[in-house]
Amino acid sequence: GPVLRFEDVRFHYDSNRPILKGVSFEVPAGKTIAVVGPSGAGKSTISRLIYRFYDTIEGKITIDGQDLRDVTQKSLRAAIGMVPQDTVLFNDTIAYNIRYGRPDATDEDVRAAAQMAQIGDFIESLPQGYDTQVGERGLKLSGGEKQRVAIARTILKAPPILILDEATSALDTQTEQEIQTALDTVSKGRTTLVIAHRLSTVVNADEIIVLRDGQIAERGRHGDLIALD
Ligand code: ADP
Ligand code: ADP
Repeated sequence: GPVLRFEDVRFHYDSNRPILKGVSFEVPAGKTIAVVGPSGAGKSTISRLIYRFYDTIEGKITIDGQDLRDVTQKSLRAAIGMVPQDTVLFNDTIAYNIRYGRPDATDEDVRAAAQMAQIGDFIESLPQGYDTQVGERGLKLSGGEKQRVAIARTILKAPPILILDEATSALDTQTEQEIQTALDTVSKGRTTLVIAHRLSTVVNADEIIVLRDGQIAERGRHGDLIALD
């Protein structure tokens, strides 16, 4: 897998208030690195920068040594799979939403991914909710179910780099554990960055980075940091 690196990355949004104040870390090939920290620390900003939503950074982000600024949006999209905090779905079947990103996938692959994310029972449903046009096929999805659609999509896409941004936050504890197992399967051997609120959800990460106020405050394995949770 590829290596993802942040080298002294500094960033601010439109106001001049610094959000990332010199952040350096590496996600080695095939490893899982977690970024944890309080709300507002800059965690989601890190994932947005990897997707190149903003080009105005100082410092450097590289994939396999190549500056992100030299990577086309197209190949970046192909290389990265993201399970976002809030999933917005297309107004089409769940199966369509899962297939998005890998249009060549067979029905069987789509079903298998849906099964792993535990939404296998309603992939022909439409997420916009019941109305007279679609009748019973219209199914209003909860936040957790939408997140599971995003997880199924990512399982199917199987990208070399994976970003999980609070990927199980909208799920109840029981479902969270089951989905976590599916996520562990898809992240195994992939270069994975996990964004999380709580240390307890990233027990298996190869390294945990504690971000506070745009800076790395601590880093280490779960066992070394557990006292902070
Ligand atoms: P976290 O994911 O750790 O909760 P974020 O990366 O979402 O933190 O946000 C870090 C800081 O940047 C916060 O103070 C937030 O208010 C601010 N911020 C986030 N998005 C924007 C934006 N689009 N414009 C201006 N400020 C933003
Ligand atoms: P962009 O968001 O710049 O158009 P993509 O279309 O490749 O880039 O989207 C990147 C990822 O964001 C996709 O893999 C998909 O998970 C998600 N995504 C983008 N747009 C939508 C949408 N309208 N509905 C659901 N997911 C979307």
